[in-house]
Amino acid sequence: MNEQKIHPLSLAAVAASSGGHNVKIIDEAIENIPTDVSSYDIVGISVNTFTSPRAYKIADSLHDKKKTVVFGGTHTALMPDECLAHADSIVVGDAEDTWPVLLADFISNGLKPKYLSANQVSGRSIPSPRRDLFKKMKRVAAYCQISRGCVNQCMFCYLQYVPYKTFRARDIEEVYYELKSINEDVILFVDDNLFCDHDYAIELFKRIIPLNKKWWIQAPTDIYEDEELISVMSASGCFSLSIGFQTANDCNNRDALMRQNNVDNYKKLVELLHKYEILVDGTFIFGFDGDSKSVFGDTENLIRYTGLDTYTFYFLTPYPGTKYYRHFLNEGRILHEDWALFDWDHVVIEPKNMTEDELLEGVEELYIRLDKTYFSRNIIRNISRYKNKVLSIDLLSFLLSLGWNYRTSRVSRL
Ligand code: SF4
Repeated sequence: MNEQKIHPLSLAAVAASSGGHNVKIIDEAIENIPTDVSSYDIVGISVNTFTSPRAYKIADSLHDKKKTVVFGGTHTALMPDECLAHADSIVVGDAEDTWPVLLADFISNGLKPKYLSANQVSGRSIPSPRRDLFKKMKRVAAYCQISRGCVNQCMFCYLQYVPYKTFRARDIEEVYYELKSINEDVILFVDDNLFCDHDYAIELFKRIIPLNKKWWIQAPTDIYEDEELISVMSASGCFSLSIGFQTANDCNNRDALMRQNNVDNYKKLVELLHKYEILVDGTFIFGFDGDSKSVFGDTENLIRYTGLDTYTFYFLTPYPGTKYYRHFLNEGRILHEDWALFDWDHVVIEPKNMTEDELLEGVEELYIRLDKTYFSRNIIRNISRYKNKVLSIDLLSFLLSLGWNYRTSRVSRL
């Protein structure tokens, strides 16, 4: 997916909590950071693990220009001390109850090094992001976030290690009017797991039917239990889901506490989603301790058997600063400490039951095999199956780009 065509949503969410202050959003995906920063009093940077090296570089150069720099984002919760070596202050957790206090302290020359959210911001009080601050340009789709947090326990997920895991969903009318204000027809909902509350999700999807949007979201495998939910999703414009199947091996589900996953249910789930004309992209993670070289064939068989439309593969990536990371560190299995490689697209741990090269090549060869003998045929079939939802060439090419760009970029490295 081309990030240049998507809004930087998290910065607009922070801007919504900035009161009457003048805010400018700079999105490095589409513009350069200005060399003259004299008109800015304070700079906030959103930092996650794999962008942290770049964020540190930017912060260091801003310090050379005597600017005050604040970090927010997941990496501040996971690696606060490392972040503080490059920032004057960090925000951990929600912006709504920290950012206004931080700005007031800054104005009175009393900036503190850390602002920890009390994590009591209710979903109903989360405001719409400041979309008016986005650079005006034609975009393929718009991001929107309806909820935060998740009730599940997956050990590799950063949510297990941050103090803001609790599931909270926004006011439905607030979401409705935000979506109504968005010009783009295609919406990508970037929630961790909106499906923690099915009743809420059904009410929301019913409310947005009149907006006639096409939308995508990531979902857990256990939504197959609720056909009413899936039918309302379809009626409200859901054209594609990314589903965290994560592994073809139920031992991995148990070991990594993915209690919501059960391989035996996957075919039922895909068939139900196809019944409602929803395309299914399955995400899989490779490198669990239960994975041996047979995992690639097992995954291929599962993809063919369930009839997935597309598939996206990742390498297991323990986030630094977590108990999960320390487990691999203590076993001497962390291969890199360059956080830029911790983007789930690089092998960063020594696998237990195969070599690093076998893991890398296994994934790349699986992509090639499936793309040649499965994906291309599937897509031709899908064009007719989903013709009611895929109304334009633009949307079709966007659908394909969800997984296809990722695959071609990987395979071209062979
Ligand atoms: S279901 Fe998704 S969001 Fe929830 S804990 Fe697992 S990986 Fe994280």
